[in-house]
Amino acid sequence: MSLSASPGFPVVKVSPRGAARLKDGHVWVYRSDIVSTDGVPPGSPVVVADHRGQVLGTALYSSSSQIAIRLISRELVGDFPAYLRQRIADAIAYREPLIHDTNAYRVIFSEADFLPGLIVDRYNDVLSMQILTQAMDVETVRETVLSELTERLQPASIIERVDPRVRHLEELSPRPSGLLQGEKLSTIFSMNGVQFHFAALEGQKTGAFLDQRENYAAAAQYGRGEALDVFCYQGGFALHLAPRCSRVTGIDSSRPALEVADQNAALNHRDIEWIEASAFDLLKDYAQSGQRYDTIVLDPPAFAKTKRDLDAALRGYKELNLRALKMLRPGGLLVTCSCSYHVKPSDLLAMLADSARDAHRTLRLVEVRGQAKDHPVLLNIPETAYLKCIVAIVSQ
Ligand code: SAH
Repeated sequence: MSLSASPGFPVVKVSPRGAARLKDGHVWVYRSDIVSTDGVPPGSPVVVADHRGQVLGTALYSSSSQIAIRLISRELVGDFPAYLRQRIADAIAYREPLIHDTNAYRVIFSEADFLPGLIVDRYNDVLSMQILTQAMDVETVRETVLSELTERLQPASIIERVDPRVRHLEELSPRPSGLLQGEKLSTIFSMNGVQFHFAALEGQKTGAFLDQRENYAAAAQYGRGEALDVFCYQGGFALHLAPRCSRVTGIDSSRPALEVADQNAALNHRDIEWIEASAFDLLKDYAQSGQRYDTIVLDPPAFAKTKRDLDAALRGYKELNLRALKMLRPGGLLVTCSCSYHVKPSDLLAMLADSARDAHRTLRLVEVRGQAKDHPVLLNIPETAYLKCIVAIVSQ
């Protein structure tokens, strides 16, 4: 395809290195690999060409992000609103056979659904949307997305969760989080038969950690005895463990999260103890005072936000896992997670092997798990795979 065949979008030329990255199957080109963006408006759809003028596809352009373009198609896209509508329909259809036992899931996951910069989560009858790029923030784009989501999913309301830091980085004017459509700000959703309160404008992420849904079910399947859910947030793992375990304790440093966790326990008629504490301090105290458990879940926040943090992050994971392993009774279950993209599954397994050796315990690997299927992983975009969840049993 040559440039003369291209539609009316402006052209961005990329360097041979940028072109090679796209040909390898990735969709990002960094600013340092851009040759020319003459007259390209911020947030515009663009035709991408290599330095010789060979067309590589259609992308969305950001004038401020280090990721200057995100490819949306290897073809020329003539009608961008039609493209958006089709991709939304595709994202919904993709999930139909994959999602069970839940009315809360990620409907659109940015690059993984060929809609870079757009995240939409469904919590029963409320949709929560996040816009992360200039292109998705354009008014006509917002309108198309809202109208297609409404037509296909008929939510009671759609709210927008704004990350002010992202808007600043994308050089977008500040705007508050709030309702975009409808009036409903809270609802109750269920996953795996467990019910949760959802308040659209509160909480972390877009409200819940939907990416753990299948790991909750796995933990529920294996959990038993006395259980500890460390970094429990609003009680996702704890609530799933409760039917199988004799006693469940959840630990988190966030009081608002624990208040919702307590309401969730009441909603499900479960008796769970919630402790507001720093997990590092509490595990140290518990380990030293000889507390023992049959099931421990570790689901800390992302310790490695960048590649540079990797070593420090692995030390943090090791400290937690070492303590947990010392506290598990023989036959005890460890469910240990990392949501840092920069920590690879092999890094986490190596850290766990080191921890087991140092704790003088033998660990048997039961499962190496990832994010729920509504958070698709694109094999040629490694960044789409970020959540790891290892299930292991202490044999001595
Ligand atoms: N397991 C949860 C998600 C955990 S997210 C779920 O499935 O829903 C990470 C949690 O760690 C957040 O709730 C945050 O409040 C908590 N947190 C962060 N630092 C902490 C610390 N040092 N001690 C205890 N909790 C911490």
